[in-house]
Amino acid sequence: MVKLHIGFDDTDSPNGGCTTYIAALLVEKLSNMNVSFMDYPSLVRLNPNVPWKTRGNGALCLRISCQENSVDKIKETVINTVEANSELDYGGTDPGVVFVHEEVPQDIMAFAKKAEQSMLTIEETLKVAKRVNAEAVGFKKGRGIIGGLAAIGEDLSGDHTFEVIAYRTPENRELPRRVQVLSVKNMDKKSDFTFNNVDPETGRVLITPRGPDPILCGIRGETPEAVKQAYEMIKIDEPVERWMIFRTNQGTDAHLRRVSAVKKIQPYNPVVAQGTVSKAPRIIQGGHVIFAIKDETGEVDCAAYEPTVTLSKIARKLMAGDVLKVYGGVRASSSEHRLTINLEKMRILELVPKVSFVNPSCPECGKRTKSMGKNQGFRCDKCGFRSSQLKKQQVNEERGLEVGLYITSPRSQRHLTKPHCRYGKEKTGVPKELIENWHYP
Ligand code: ATP
Repeated sequence: MVKLHIGFDDTDSPNGGCTTYIAALLVEKLSNMNVSFMDYPSLVRLNPNVPWKTRGNGALCLRISCQENSVDKIKETVINTVEANSELDYGGTDPGVVFVHEEVPQDIMAFAKKAEQSMLTIEETLKVAKRVNAEAVGFKKGRGIIGGLAAIGEDLSGDHTFEVIAYRTPENRELPRRVQVLSVKNMDKKSDFTFNNVDPETGRVLITPRGPDPILCGIRGETPEAVKQAYEMIKIDEPVERWMIFRTNQGTDAHLRRVSAVKKIQPYNPVVAQGTVSKAPRIIQGGHVIFAIKDETGEVDCAAYEPTVTLSKIARKLMAGDVLKVYGGVRASSSEHRLTINLEKMRILELVPKVSFVNPSCPECGKRTKSMGKNQGFRCDKCGFRSSQLKKQQVNEERGLEVGLYITSPRSQRHLTKPHCRYGKEKTGVPKELIENWHYP
């Protein structure tokens, strides 16, 4: 038996298609070709700030073991299936397929980290592929080779999660999705090891996407068993063509890289940066909140967009001098704005006191005094006490903020953002064996 890693990406367009669906088709086809799966299919989310992504910048990888003499037939099946199911007529769809034999070289793993956290070019991708003897097949511009190679390199041995995705039959793909809302809410209450099923603030169901793609719903969670059980709990009023469990880096913050200094922040990279609030928040049109942080190397703007609700509410209360760690994607500067971190999360490390001055209390009766004019001292209306020695008292006002971690509301979280409920549930390692029935058909 030989091992084969199959990565692919960039097959869909805003008008339809989905690379995870091609993975599900391939799992059915390859299962009938007597291969065994070494892992669940990987759904690897890459840098969410690449400008040419369709939706969530997801790339896919299948890891199989098979007879050596079936390798060519398998490769042919993969290439034909990707070609037949890609939205090739769409301008921005440039599929890529990558094959790697036996163990995944360290170089591809390092490449995958870069693809999650920064911007890559097709030229450097092809160089890495050549160096490690990966076979790459591109359609049109072949940009999907970047994602295909990265999906192979991300072995998900670090923190990871699972998602069960169910797909619709073709005749239903333009119609509203028929998943019973109440059943999703009930499932959410009973499934501690799933996450982001329902938005807590609005009650909106988050497991069903909105576009014309073949996905009916996707449930995310900590274990394959948890997502499968949750899937069995929901009530669906339309036929399901197929479903499959993926292992993923969703909800793990894999995209965020700590920068040691503000001046090292690069456009399009997701970052974690620490600094002191240097410009107090201002609210711009649309209710978005902009403030700046700085360290000894430079200053950068931070934006909490209104759809992030939790963060924009918190950001409004920040004051110059507060110390923060900010997490988010970096937007390049333009004629209208400076380099800006679009916040996904924010950790308040220190809050400066909010100081105000009030008239002193009367030393005789305790009642608040009144000013007798500038530098004239204070008098008490109740007992008549007067003094020119009394001074205004300093009081610390409530900030209405606490140190701690704040994250965008689930409905505006990115696929990669680690939600509150996952803190403490991080895990490592790859599965030794797969659960029974992890896909249908
Ligand atoms: P889908 O959800 O179907 O996978 P998508 O939102 O993932 O769609 P794609 O159509 O796959 O978007 O487009 C993303 C493109 O960006 C792919 O061609 C992929 O190879 C490329 N890409 C991914 N990560 C990077 C990166 N870090 N630098 C440059 N290009 C990247």
